[in-house]
Amino acid sequence: MENNKLWQSVLSQIQFCISKANFETWFKNTKVVSEKDGAVFVSVPNSFSKEWLENKYHKLILKILRNTDEKIKEIKYTVETPNQKVQIIKSPKFEEIKDPQLRFREFEVDKKTNLNPRYTFDNFVVGSFNELAYAAGLGITKNPGLTYNPFFIYGGVGLGKTHLLEAIGNKITEKFPKKRVEYIPSNKFITEIINAIKNRSIELLKVKLQKIDVLIIDDIQFLAGKEKTQEEFFYLFNNLYEKNKQIIISSDRPPKAISSLEERLKSRFEGGMMADISLPDYETRLAILKFKEQEKNIQISEEILKYIASNITKNIRELEGALNQIIVYQKVNNKSLNLDITKKLLKNLFFSPFKIATQKKIIKTVAEFYDLNEKDVFNKTRKKEIV
Ligand code: ADP
Ligand code: MG
Repeated sequence: MENNKLWQSVLSQIQFCISKANFETWFKNTKVVSEKDGAVFVSVPNSFSKEWLENKYHKLILKILRNTDEKIKEIKYTVETPNQKVQIIKSPKFEEIKDPQLRFREFEVDKKTNLNPRYTFDNFVVGSFNELAYAAGLGITKNPGLTYNPFFIYGGVGLGKTHLLEAIGNKITEKFPKKRVEYIPSNKFITEIINAIKNRSIELLKVKLQKIDVLIIDDIQFLAGKEKTQEEFFYLFNNLYEKNKQIIISSDRPPKAISSLEERLKSRFEGGMMADISLPDYETRLAILKFKEQEKNIQISEEILKYIASNITKNIRELEGALNQIIVYQKVNNKSLNLDITKKLLKNLFFSPFKIATQKKIIKTVAEFYDLNEKDVFNKTRKKEIV
């Protein structure tokens, strides 16, 4: 294939796999300058880009290139300086990559920050549904505490709130290693406060919390009705806020819709930046699936991906769950699956009992379980087995 065409085709696939911002930054001024004996020479505008491509995107590029042309064995990134002096630096050959399946490694939660490094901006797919939250989140990492404070993200279950919160935390940790970042799910916060009160160590806990530079509280709606915790949180919030410390909060609904949350807290939250994450549209769901397909290094037919994208519409975690089911199936059966099997496989996921638990169905299931006649369930009897 002609160099230019080859690279265009690679770029169009990469576009699906990384955020728009990243694509613009790292791939915009790249091209393939030549190809020889299975080596592709990619020219990049500066050594900074070169480093990024080598360290962050090399596997992805190589994988896509090899999908397009399996004769390709290695990539050489060259910095094209204005005077055309070309610097060639070798990148690992395909055979040299230790992890041939290009699997992402398993991640562990960092004990100090409680952040999971698997959540990054790089693997966060951006579409119109989450664009504002993404942009504001990224903005915060440039100047924590000073741009949007507090930052309040809200949206339904499985739509990427935790992912984004943690990505912000991870990015700040990376850029400002001295800053104390702490990710605290609300439940953990509540437990800590309750325990500290019980053990009479609340003052100690307060001192500890007040040292935080970036406080991330996930699922704040769980504070509803917890008066004592809200009081402590309000105190902490003001303390950090006055010191220009960054506060980032998520919730499944906007502040004013959280009942049993003190007005003074609501108005604090509303005083900062608020961004919602809505539902991804079909195109975005498909892009997310394709991204995850690459990330997990599996091959699934377009037809199947489209089927999943059009049937799972409200939850990105479920999109991922569907892919995981397919992976398990393919591993166990050692073959790729067709649409019919996919439909059967995913039936439980799409039509989870939770969604279709009609009265009739519940009665039928209960009757079956206890080996009764359905009618017996309605019997006004004191018979033990029926009661
Ligand atoms: P929430 O906290 O809103 O319930 P999560 O952040 O836990 O949702 O997201 C659920 C799953 O979906 C996670 O595995 C997350 O990595 C993935 N996910 C969510 N949004 C995105 C996105 N925009 N791009 C890629 N993966 C996403
Ligand atoms: Mg969450």
